[in-house]
Amino acid sequence: MKVLKVLHIDENYAGRVALVMNVPSKKMGKKDIVKIEGRHIDDKTANKIALIAPHASMNLIKNFEVIEKKDVKMPAVLVDIAVCPNPKCVTNFEKIETRFAVEKQGFRCGHCERVFKANELI
Ligand SMILES: [Zn+2]
Repeated sequence: MKVLKVLHIDENYAGRVALVMNVPSKKMGKKDIVKIEGRHIDDKTANKIALIAPHASMNLIKNFEVIEKKDVKMPAVLVDIAVCPNPKCVTNFEKIETRFAVEKQGFRCGHCERVFKANELI
């Protein structure tokens, strides 16, 4: 449901959308599946999905066939995909793109140097 939110898909979306939750998965134990008609996911959006679901995989389906399969990947730096939660951060006052370095402890803002958890950036 968070993924749908990131994709701005709600009851007004024109295409067909299917959400299946708690499907048994060999790799993960269980998984959720979202099927969206008429929506292409660009790299920036894929990075946002990685924040919510780091183990997600995406299949591009055309004419009932999977034509592309890829796992979302967390990049080393998130550029312009999240807002800095620090209200005093310069990125919240000036029009500059946000950059978060992906570190072990979390995501470090390139401007105020504070470290945040993934759920704080969503
Ligand atoms: Zn910041």
